[in-house]
Amino acid sequence: MYWRLVSFVVGQCLAALAGWWLAPDGDAEDGALMAMLLAAYAWVLLDALRGARLMRWLRDEPEAEPSLGSGLWGEASDRIRRLIRAQERLIAQSESRLHDFLAALQVSPNGVMLLDEQGRIEWFNQTSASHFGLSTPRDLLQHVGNLVREPGFVAYLAERDYRAGITMAGRENSSSKPVKLSVHIHPYGEGRSLLLSRDVTPLEQAEAMRRDFVANVSHEIRTPLTVLAGFVETMQTLPLDENERHRYLALMAQQSQRMQSLVNDLLTLSRLEGSPPPPVQEWVSVRGLMEQCEQDANDLSSVLWQRPHDLHVELQGEAEIAGAASELYSAMFNLVGNAVRYTPAAQRIDVAWRMLSDGGALFLVKDTGAGIAPEHIPRLTERFYRVDRSRSRETGGTGLGLAIVKHVSQRHGAELRIESVPGKGSTFSVQFPSHRVRLAHRPD
Ligand code: ADP
Repeated sequence: MYWRLVSFVVGQCLAALAGWWLAPDGDAEDGALMAMLLAAYAWVLLDALRGARLMRWLRDEPEAEPSLGSGLWGEASDRIRRLIRAQERLIAQSESRLHDFLAALQVSPNGVMLLDEQGRIEWFNQTSASHFGLSTPRDLLQHVGNLVREPGFVAYLAERDYRAGITMAGRENSSSKPVKLSVHIHPYGEGRSLLLSRDVTPLEQAEAMRRDFVANVSHEIRTPLTVLAGFVETMQTLPLDENERHRYLALMAQQSQRMQSLVNDLLTLSRLEGSPPPPVQEWVSVRGLMEQCEQDANDLSSVLWQRPHDLHVELQGEAEIAGAASELYSAMFNLVGNAVRYTPAAQRIDVAWRMLSDGGALFLVKDTGAGIAPEHIPRLTERFYRVDRSRSRETGGTGLGLAIVKHVSQRHGAELRIESVPGKGSTFSVQFPSHRVRLAHRPD
């Protein structure tokens, strides 16, 4: 500002001198005045032109930098340029932060959708897109209620009380592959909302399984309990002779035995689920396990059948398994016991232990019973799944045996395989991995 004043005053002085000098004799004063006036006009004109260039730059071409030299306008243009650069840097930083933020939301396992004041979709991540079947840019700025037509969701949206979320079917829900979503709207800012969605299908399935399990257990316990209660009432109210009393007591003992087996199997399953993995340093003799299985299978066979089975046990190699002896016995005997229970009297049953070339081993139970139709095989290890319900009950089955076998196998890194030909028989085998099997040294 100081230099601007100085330049104006210096210009005026020089113009006055020039006017004085050049004016005809006697008009020197008028000449000086005239020259000063002209110089002032010229100064103001030049100044206005420079100001106009700056204004044009600001208005029309912010990128092109005008060279206004030094002075007030030059300094003003420099400062404005610096301000614009700082502003651009800030915008770039904010954009990069926004980009990072959206990228983080994009990888979220939960669906995230932003809605404006009218409920129109402003942004959504990939998970949300797959939950609701949306796509960008087609569905941006569409009202969410027009795109997600599930009645539960439409009612929730209309309610405007979003404190509790809802559970609804996902876009890809089908009867063969159910998809359940938990959806919750969270209002924020001035009328905007955040719509979060989460795939809760596994949770819902676990909950359904838990409900089924409780219903099954209750049913399994209620049946023998009802029978027992009936016998107790009969014995209390009717005069029975000694024979009848004995018969009723035997039937009552059978029912309580059934409940006991069920409770034992339930406890085994819950122990399997709750206990740490079986040890890898404790070695269990396969011969010991097989001998115990053979003896118990013969006992069971003679209790259940009038003519016992033709049981063949073959042990290849003196092997040991790393794991929990009680679990391994339980799995092996469940398979041998099933063979005894589902194979008619006096027929052949083979139980074998075979070493495999990869260092692993196979425990195998082959029977000549009724066999199992292929459609049942994938479901046999489900809890309480039975092919022949009455046969299972008659022979003291709980419907939990193969679930236990599968669990024990998994805990020992082994795999249960089932092959069966209806009318011919079944083969159940458990294949142990090499790191769980070793050949034992025979004691001298
Ligand atoms: P259960 O206590 O009823 O025997 P399991 O879980 O051991 O329960 O077996 C499930 C079902 O698989 C049985 O109810 C039976 O129908 C069928 N099953 C199991 N083993 C055999 C077998 N060796 N032969 C024929 N069916 C079998």
